[in-house]
Amino acid sequence: MQKSELEQRLKKLKTELKKAELIAVSKYSTVEEVEMAYECGQFNFGENRVGDLAPKAEFFNQKKLKDVRWHFIGHLQSNKVRELLKIPKLYAIHSVDSLRLLEELLKRENDFKGPVLKIFFQVNTSHEEEKSGFESMDELKSAIRLLLSRSDSKLKFEGLMTMGAIRTDDVRREAQKSFRDLRSIRDLLTSEFNQADIKLSMGMSGDYKEALVEGADFIRVGSLIFK
Ligand SMILES: *Cc1c(COP(=O)(O)O)cnc(C)c1O
Repeated sequence: MQKSELEQRLKKLKTELKKAELIAVSKYSTVEEVEMAYECGQFNFGENRVGDLAPKAEFFNQKKLKDVRWHFIGHLQSNKVRELLKIPKLYAIHSVDSLRLLEELLKRENDFKGPVLKIFFQVNTSHEEEKSGFESMDELKSAIRLLLSRSDSKLKFEGLMTMGAIRTDDVRREAQKSFRDLRSIRDLLTSEFNQADIKLSMGMSGDYKEALVEGADFIRVGSLIFK
């Protein structure tokens, strides 16, 4: 892709963002394209596999492109936790989907060398079987309680993440429902835990407009930028 085309796509998306931040999901792109986007002033990037993120982050590290912020957005297996935590400029994990995974991350947190790692809990609002995410409010609350109780940890509770349904005739409508659900869960947790600033990570290429209407703080857009 030409840099000018990439620049234009990023610019257009940024005019639509309101208060949200754009995470450019780079899982379809080469590291050279990611670098091009960085040169256009895009610093937040999302990857959904540790094995793809590691070499890209290493490339950025060697070139001292220090403003980059890597967001991990995919399903994380326990045996990949240490490799993920060692990634330079890892900024957030959006896909913590169980209490067990949180416990594993806390156990391994010494592998993380940055100052703060932002944690989002993924909620399965569409209830599709193949989707990861908390299904039970009790488990979600236990995870939040555990994380908040570790006040000296570098891992900080940042917010909630979700994805809209895939298997539906009306993707955007179903996505809107999922996003509204996530927002109500957030509002409930806000008062229950007395946490004023719980962020929402929601919206992809096909449904980011709905997510923005529902108050997304982070949208995760891949295909619209890189394909
Ligand atoms: C791939 C992916 C995205 C981006 O999807 P696009 O439809 O390409 O914008 C967002 N979030 C997650 C969790 C993803 O895996």
